[in-house]
Amino acid sequence: MNKTGTLMVLIGPSGSGKGTILRELLQMEENTFLSVSATTRPPRPGEEHGKHYFFLSKEEFQALIAEGGLFEYACYVGNYYGTPKAPVEERLAAGSNVILEIEVQGAKQVKQMFPEAVTVFILPPSLSELKRRLVDRNTEDLETVERRLETALQEIPYAYECDYVVVNRTIPAAAAELRAILLSQSCSQRAMRPVIEQVLQG
Ligand code: 5GP
Repeated sequence: MNKTGTLMVLIGPSGSGKGTILRELLQMEENTFLSVSATTRPPRPGEEHGKHYFFLSKEEFQALIAEGGLFEYACYVGNYYGTPKAPVEERLAAGSNVILEIEVQGAKQVKQMFPEAVTVFILPPSLSELKRRLVDRNTEDLETVERRLETALQEIPYAYECDYVVVNRTIPAAAAELRAILLSQSCSQRAMRPVIEQVLQG
């Protein structure tokens, strides 16, 4: 008896730890996939085409938009980012959960088009803790850290519009909360509709 999969959208400022929480969750959840986005930004060292992103030229990305191949897309810091539509639809139809790790504009589009999507905001415990994490990461200069903090301040109010908010105090605790959200979604009436129908049909 196939339940319907859950489309979970994970949003959170840079430094909130959403990527790490997600990796922890994916190790525990078998039937859950992270969508691989397309982008026009160049790969960073260690990033692989098809694994971290599909790295496309601007022309290739625009062709994808024109043929309706994207579930959502947004321009972020001068580059396009978008979610390829077919893999998301195929996995949901097969009863799997799909997670999108995207920025706020994209999350708003998904929620508008697909109201059953579950939006989860990953919140740092405080702004001073966020700053500490960004500084400790040691990947950016202080000016970039300050810019990321300003962006975070603009992004955090979107948490009021999300279905769930997870505070990242520790990675295992935050991953356990995300897992609980997925579990509760899998028992929702929306997910269980095919099962109810099967029972009714005897
Ligand atoms: P980065 O360049 O650091 O990998 O990603 C920059 C931002 O783009 C992050 O907030 C990330 O979550 C977001 N992002 C990644 N893929 C997508 C996507 O497919 N759609 C949208 N709207 N945002 C994305």
